[in-house]
Amino acid sequence: MPDVPFLDLKAQIQPIRDEIWRELELVVDRTAFASGPAAAAFEEDFAAYSGVRECVALNSGTSALHVAMRCLDIGPGDEVITVSMSFVATAWPILYLGARPVFVDIDPERFTLDPSRLEAALTPRTRAIVPVHLYGQCADMDPILELAKERGIPVIEDAAQAAGAKYKGRRAGSMGTIGCFSFYPGKNLGAWGEGGAITTDSLEIAERARRLRDHGQSQKHLHDEVGYNYRMDGLQGAVLRVKLRYLDEWNDRRRQVARLYDSILQTAPIRTPKACPDGEHIYHLYVIRSREREALREGLQERGIQTGLHYPKPIHTQEPFVALACRPGDLPVSEALGRQCLSLPIFPELSEVQIRRVAEALGATT
Ligand SMILES: *Cc1c(COP(=O)(O)O)cnc(C)c1O
Repeated sequence: MPDVPFLDLKAQIQPIRDEIWRELELVVDRTAFASGPAAAAFEEDFAAYSGVRECVALNSGTSALHVAMRCLDIGPGDEVITVSMSFVATAWPILYLGARPVFVDIDPERFTLDPSRLEAALTPRTRAIVPVHLYGQCADMDPILELAKERGIPVIEDAAQAAGAKYKGRRAGSMGTIGCFSFYPGKNLGAWGEGGAITTDSLEIAERARRLRDHGQSQKHLHDEVGYNYRMDGLQGAVLRVKLRYLDEWNDRRRQVARLYDSILQTAPIRTPKACPDGEHIYHLYVIRSREREALREGLQERGIQTGLHYPKPIHTQEPFVALACRPGDLPVSEALGRQCLSLPIFPELSEVQIRRVAEALGATT
């Protein structure tokens, strides 16, 4: 392992290993491997945590976005507005459904959908707006929600990187029509395998999502519409339910790590990320910017410090999207961030010594 790993999942497992193991045994004893009581109990807890009426547990964040768009009947001829500076999965379901992605540039400080550019992207074919709470900070939701409401367009929050984050007191995933989460192991609430969920206040949407994840069955042997096998694995439900109890504590610790980076990196020749005062950033990622990104990354690597890139090639420049949406050069803020972004190690158990080593390697005087 490098001296400072980008992510150390083992450090998180050790203190809660026995607690999780007991819950896994219950799932095994009941042989409730697909959905079942553990996944249902997680749904209940995650809905309460998020401040919504319903949570539907699924098998990935990508399926969550897919199911969310199916629940809104998005299909061929429709347009879905989102951002290009995200993980590619934000936009995959738009293509799965034969709809057209319309990418809006991001705010240069917040890195999320720029509300001032939203209106110009709306057309009579716009069927959904999908802001992404990138790196763990919520998009500036109020102006987005206001415009969406005015035009009668539903909002799907991609909260895959923002479990537990807040915006003006509201949790990520509770503000739009539907919230989408990923519990991929590397996310800040990670399963011991794949997982995802949607959150919503609409009982109708939740019911439809429950049918869609289970082959479109309204009752046994009755498949009313095209469905999927998108159920959450029972073992993942058990893991996530235990881990949810620690989420706030872990997110607090991530914020402390970020505060320390912020203060030590003041003297380094890079730009630190900005946390807006209207919410609670949970720092799924701590992303600095530099025009010398590649040289910095190599220098850190030589010192045993692992880094990541989120995301060096924005979605609209990826092959399956180029013919459909805007072209390279059309989203200057997203593309500049793609060239300059560098994700530093961050996880709740990262030590002060490790943080100082990273900062020193970046040229901070510590
Ligand atoms: C991880 C991620 C997804 C996809 O989640 P999976 O569980 O990997 O399918 C979608 N959107 C964003 C912003 C993500 O970070």
